[in-house]
Amino acid sequence: MDFKASLYKRLEKYARVDTQSDEKSQTFPSTKKQLVLAKLLAAELKAIGAKGVKLDKYGYVTAEIPATVKGNKPVIGFLAHIDTSPAASGKGVKPQVHKGWKGGDIVISRRHGVVLNTKNCPELAGFKGEDIVTASGDTLLGADNKAGIAIIMTAAEHLIRHREIPHGALKIGFTPDEEVGQGVKYFDVKAFGAKYAYTFDGDMEGSVEDENFNADCVKISVTGKSVHPGSAKNAMANAARIAAEIVAGWPENMLPETTENREGFIMFTDISGETEKAEISGIVREHDMKKLKAMERQLGAIVAAARLKYPLAKIELSFREQYRNMKEIIVKHPEVMGKLMAAVKQAGVTPRLKPVRGGTDGARLSFMGLPTPNVFTGGYNYHGRYEWVSLDGMNRSAEVLINLARKWAE
Ligand SMILES: [Zn+2]
Repeated sequence: MDFKASLYKRLEKYARVDTQSDEKSQTFPSTKKQLVLAKLLAAELKAIGAKGVKLDKYGYVTAEIPATVKGNKPVIGFLAHIDTSPAASGKGVKPQVHKGWKGGDIVISRRHGVVLNTKNCPELAGFKGEDIVTASGDTLLGADNKAGIAIIMTAAEHLIRHREIPHGALKIGFTPDEEVGQGVKYFDVKAFGAKYAYTFDGDMEGSVEDENFNADCVKISVTGKSVHPGSAKNAMANAARIAAEIVAGWPENMLPETTENREGFIMFTDISGETEKAEISGIVREHDMKKLKAMERQLGAIVAAARLKYPLAKIELSFREQYRNMKEIIVKHPEVMGKLMAAVKQAGVTPRLKPVRGGTDGARLSFMGLPTPNVFTGGYNYHGRYEWVSLDGMNRSAEVLINLARKWAE
């Protein structure tokens, strides 16, 4: 099956709509402009013949493709997100195709000095001969996650046109604000009505993800004691200096900049302080829950030592849960990954199972009762000007979706 022309047409159309989300916003969705694409997607779903198309007040777009077979088949959902990362501009995106890439430099923009090649992106090496899409040098592309939307829309159109393909009822969901960690906050899992779902929000071809970080955030507040520095001996507790000592006490080999794959870390994201008061905020990340708790105890020991050393200061430490590793839920439903692995192989792709070093909307959905692993879309270098996606990879991702629909009806 060759969907490349429609996949590109859609990706281009969606990429041109600026849908950047905003982590500082108090509204939901965080930016109004995401609704522009949401409206366009709802209209397009209607136009391709999807049923029950809805755009609600939160910006969630949902629709259904009715079953083509009788019997009690599980309802399967397919999800992608509308917004793009606040990390790079998504305004005035001009996608371009580098057809049949031969392996040399991909000049994204001569003027901006943005050139993509296997030196600055070794991951590209496996995709010679493919059609590579990039932006034009001054913005991100937004393949994260508009490639996913294009894949779902194109596969949906194919399934609607070809009712001879056997499948149960399928649900489609496009959600705002994934990039600011709020994507499914108001998502009505019950109303969506799927038993299992897949987010098409992964990266390079072949990658499938059923595991993400366990995530807590940490706050340490130090209350010091201010005394005139001239007479401070044995009387002052300098909160700012104590805070600095705690941060410096954390092992250097357990930081984001020194860890990879399955290694966890604590990152101190914000430190502010003066003599009377200092505050440290940070994030704790680890795939293994026991190791997450062990890291927190290790930080607790550093804080306890500081309390002993500085009895004049008051030091408080607290952790708050942010999200959990979806693996815990997904392993209880082995079919979800079993069918996905088979669907990927059937598309001629070798699946590569890897843990996400972050969270996904699927993780939150899994804990809301909808087990939702993540599937590749064929892109890479997300959230920046070097972002790229292979149209061939997108094509195979669309095949995976169609295979999945069939397999769940077997
Ligand atoms: Zn994404």
